[in-house]
Amino acid sequence: EKKEKEDAKIEGAVQIAIGVKKEVDFASWYTNVLIKADMLDYYSVSGCYILKPWSYSIWEEIQTWFNKEIKKLGVQNSYFPMFISQSVLEREKEHIEGFSPEVAWVTRAGQSDLEEPIAIRPTSETSMYPYYAKWIRSHRDLPLKLNQWNSVVRWEFKNPQPFLRTREFLWQEGHTAFLTKEEADQEVRQILDLYRKVYEDLLAVPVIPGVKSEKEKFAGGLYTTTLEGFISTSGRGIQAATSHCLGQNFSRPEMFDIFVEDPVTAGKSYVWQNSWGLSTRAIGVMVMVHGDNQGLVLPPRVASIQAVVVPCGITAKTSDEDRAAINSACEELAAKLRDVDIRAKADLREGYTPGYKFNDWEQKGVPLRLEIGPQDLKKKQTLTVRRDTGAKNPVPLDNIDKTITDLLATIQNDMFTTARDNYWSHVKTVTEWKDVVPALDSKNIIAIPWCEAEACEDDIKDRSGRAAEPQDERAPSAGAKSLCIPFDQSHWPAIEPGKTKCTGCGKDAKRWTLFGRSY
Ligand code: AMP
Ligand code: ZN
Repeated sequence: EKKEKEDAKIEGAVQIAIGVKKEVDFASWYTNVLIKADMLDYYSVSGCYILKPWSYSIWEEIQTWFNKEIKKLGVQNSYFPMFISQSVLEREKEHIEGFSPEVAWVTRAGQSDLEEPIAIRPTSETSMYPYYAKWIRSHRDLPLKLNQWNSVVRWEFKNPQPFLRTREFLWQEGHTAFLTKEEADQEVRQILDLYRKVYEDLLAVPVIPGVKSEKEKFAGGLYTTTLEGFISTSGRGIQAATSHCLGQNFSRPEMFDIFVEDPVTAGKSYVWQNSWGLSTRAIGVMVMVHGDNQGLVLPPRVASIQAVVVPCGITAKTSDEDRAAINSACEELAAKLRDVDIRAKADLREGYTPGYKFNDWEQKGVPLRLEIGPQDLKKKQTLTVRRDTGAKNPVPLDNIDKTITDLLATIQNDMFTTARDNYWSHVKTVTEWKDVVPALDSKNIIAIPWCEAEACEDDIKDRSGRAAEPQDERAPSAGAKSLCIPFDQSHWPAIEPGKTKCTGCGKDAKRWTLFGRSY
């Protein structure tokens, strides 16, 4: 009797699942999902969070896939120290101006002050490039392609949000050096396309690739390519990953002086450099895009459990024999799926009702639930329940490995397609200023013909921010920034030089550009 009461209590707790609705209080919904799914815990230093196994395993999936791909391109992993001396950090002026407000410094060891404070890397250009100068001696040392998986610290003062904006975050940073601009240009795009695959193929999150405006490009770089994601619940864009061409800005003599003797002219050739990074922000974007009011929804490719098998229909009246038969059928099914590399688990926990287990795995976002009860056992079938759509379907246990493999692929594909259609339904083409703020206020981002002038960008931000209703304090900027100039301009009518005018200022437009409120 006591056990029954406890079960009832647990079931009661489950009723309130995520607590708040995604569309009602998005910020609380987000943190509740992360906690209930057991992805994250808070930490005693503000802006820092603990990544628990349920989220860290997603990062490992990304790492495994990305490592394989960059190694095909000849990139090698390495590790540089997290500390940077003040003089080295401050060598590149534009670069450090971009980062200095966020740099954290070590000033003391034990009781004694350090003679010169030491910076904790916000990114590693300045830590690595003195050694690139040392190691790159001849054109035979090129290209040099190093990557590191590490954490960086940016003491952000905007409101922190788990995964999206944290003071320490995990990422990979690739740093490459080439003899020619052409090679550097080519690699920038190859890497951006790998990032696109991380988002679209692994996380089922659609992104739009493009180039950043001059104002939004990486501090000290030549140009920045980017993937722009979209969170439809808040109507905000989010920078998903960036691949920068640094040009020769860091290699020139006043900077890190990285050159080789030109094989043809025998003069000094300063190397062309790229840097590129993808952070744990990707996990937060995935949660926001796919999660629902039952909790997390994981795309199968990154789920550490892809299918959970739950025994059902066991009551007080069920004989020990039948109970054992159902449990072992569940165990067998999970084992059969594991044989074909499906990450499957049978949940045979005693003392929990099926209802409790359903909710538990739903909150944690497991893509597929398989139920086996007495009737299923007789009919040699299992009931499949999709996390993404809730669709239920009985399928024969015969050939089950093939059925489930296909079903997981379908779920992965459907999650992406749904999210992509949703994203594009919120990209509004706007050619008149009067339509800008209403489009933004209805949680869209906008595509406008744009002149690409920095003053116009500032003006758009200012004018679109002023009119806006008061924003949630946890939401960062109210004015619209340029998000990216998409590489694929074919979604919109061709810009006619001299005829198509900028939506912001009325001067000649150059390219269609996405603007939006953003994280
Ligand atoms: P950046 O070096 O500024 O181009 O940043 C590289 C990538 O890291 C960006 O595209 C973001 O997706 C991500 N990122 C930047 N700042 C943060 C942060 N505070 N927390 C998590 N991810 C971040
Ligand atoms: Zn303009």
